[in-house]
Parts: sequence; C-alpha cells; structure tokens
Amino acid sequence: MSTASAYMTIRGIGIDVIYKDIKNLHIGVYPPMGRVRVAAPERLNDDAVRLAVIQRLPWINRQREQLRAADRQSVREMVTGESHFVWGARYRLKVVERPGRATIAVDGRKLLLGMPPDTSAQRRRDILERWHREQLRAAIPDLIAKWEPTVGRTVPAWTIRRMKTKWGSCNRETGRLWLNLELAKKHPDSLEYVVVHEMTHLVEPTHGERFTALMDKFMPDWRSRRDALNAAPLASEQWGDLGSAGNE
Ligand SMILES: [Zn+2]
Repeated sequence: MSTASAYMTIRGIGIDVIYKDIKNLHIGVYPPMGRVRVAAPERLNDDAVRLAVIQRLPWINRQREQLRAADRQSVREMVTGESHFVWGARYRLKVVERPGRATIAVDGRKLLLGMPPDTSAQRRRDILERWHREQLRAAIPDLIAKWEPTVGRTVPAWTIRRMKTKWGSCNRETGRLWLNLELAKKHPDSLEYVVVHEMTHLVEPTHGERFTALMDKFMPDWRSRRDALNAAPLASEQWGDLGSAGNE
C-alpha cells in the first residue's frame, strides 16, 4: 500500500502529515529547526488531524522552544578535540598554530585548522564557515546542471545563506534558489534533495499532490533523503487517545 501525505500550516507552523496503516497518531518535532511531522492513521482525514495537532500545540511549542534554546547554546569554541561535521561525516578538529594564512584541510578523520597563534574563536568560526561555504559552492553547479533537464526548469542564479527555519527557498519568477549553509554539514544526498525540492517548486509552488507526484517522478527516494536530513527527533510522543478529534 502506498502512503498518502499532506502538508498543512497551523498557527504559522508548517506540518508534514503522512497517513499510514497505524493505530495511533504520532507527532514528532525535529531538530535543528523544529520541523513537525505527524504520522496519522489512515482512518483520519485532514480536518481530524488538524484538530488533533491544535490540541497538542502547547506541547509542540515547548519542544520547538527547547530546540531553539539548544541551537543558541551550540556556539563552538573551535579548539582541538571538538567534533565538526562535513558532508555528513564527523571529524575531530585539530588546531595547528603557525604563522601565515589560515587554512582548513581534511586529514583522515581529522579536520586540520592551521592558523596564527591568538586567532580568536570568532575568527576561527568565520574561517570554518567560509570553508563550508566553499564546499557547497563547489558542489552546487554540477547538481543544478544535472537536474535541470529532469525538472525542465533552469536555475540562472543561486545563493548560499544562513537560514534559521528553512533548508532552502526559491523565487519562482526569477528561478533563483537559496540554500542553507548548514547543508555543507549534511550528507551530499541531502543537498541534492533540497536542490531538487526547490527546483520542483519552480514547477509547482505548493506542497500539494502535484508537488508530491513530481518529486516521486524526479527523485523516488526523496522521502528517505528528507528523513535523513531531519535526523532523529529531539522529542516525539505517541497519542493514543484522539478524543473528540477522532473523525472517521
Ligand atoms: Zn517546499
């Protein structure tokens, strides 16, 4: 059996709903941005799910607030031994103090940061961010060129940007894409998924059935890529009792 899916916005929160052959409604809030996913029994319809989610909004908002707080705490010191992610793999940072221009290099499982002594933590973070940006900048043109014939749209321009709430966005008029800098820390499959997702919006702006059908055609494994991108939930709860929301 195939599973149906829906996208809804409730009080400004975008929510992905997937209907499955399950007994209970399940709500998950996912890092880093507090994405909300609902797995709902097939016997429910969109209205029933919407009502169930509204009832759980206080809990959802608490989880999202915790995620944002955790994100604020995650400022890195940029010292030897810290772990940092590049293309989905974890590396140990090794700081090498030496004169000259700052450099970053991958050496086995180590990420070597070469820099003059007394380089501030902020400056070190800037160096790593610039390097992450370069990784993305080198990968994106080939991906866009690869997918333009499949999607049937051209992307004349794109920008890498720090974004707090989205992995990507696009301008349908100009064909421009914006891609989140954080994607340099995720597996390359994730970047490819976000590029294809945004390019598909150039064909279909909403997340409705047509969008899902196009994604299924272009990239049949997009769901597993999306789930990998959004990683394990920080928090999730099983809701057995749907109460008055049980609309069959
Ligand atoms: Zn979208």
